[in-house]
Amino acid sequence: MLADMSEGEGATFKFACPNCGLHIEYLQTDAGRETNCPNCQDAIVLPVSAAAIIPPPVIAPPLPAPPLSAKPQPTRAVRSWKDDPATEKQLDYLKEIGYVPPGPLTKGDASRLIDQS
Ligand SMILES: [Zn+2]
Repeated sequence: MLADMSEGEGATFKFACPNCGLHIEYLQTDAGRETNCPNCQDAIVLPVSAAAIIPPPVIAPPLPAPPLSAKPQPTRAVRSWKDDPATEKQLDYLKEIGYVPPGPLTKGDASRLIDQS
């Protein structure tokens, strides 16, 4: 099987015996087959994927993620009480002082108007 060195049969894979480290070359068509290491006779399975055989070149570890300087800013981090609609109490008070709001008031607007009154 492994002695068949005829060319043109397809790609060959190289595989290092996990037991003794002997480099075994085999045809792609033999991938997945169980065999015995010619050196140590250890039962080995010829890997199907070349990626599993030849370790990829050492790639520099990914750079540490840059500090999150550009944190996504929520347009409105925290809803302020000032954005809540004015309370009945505030509206009553404003009515009392003769202020007629042109539209819906927020608590912030109402309290500002009340402060100014
Ligand atoms: Zn071996």
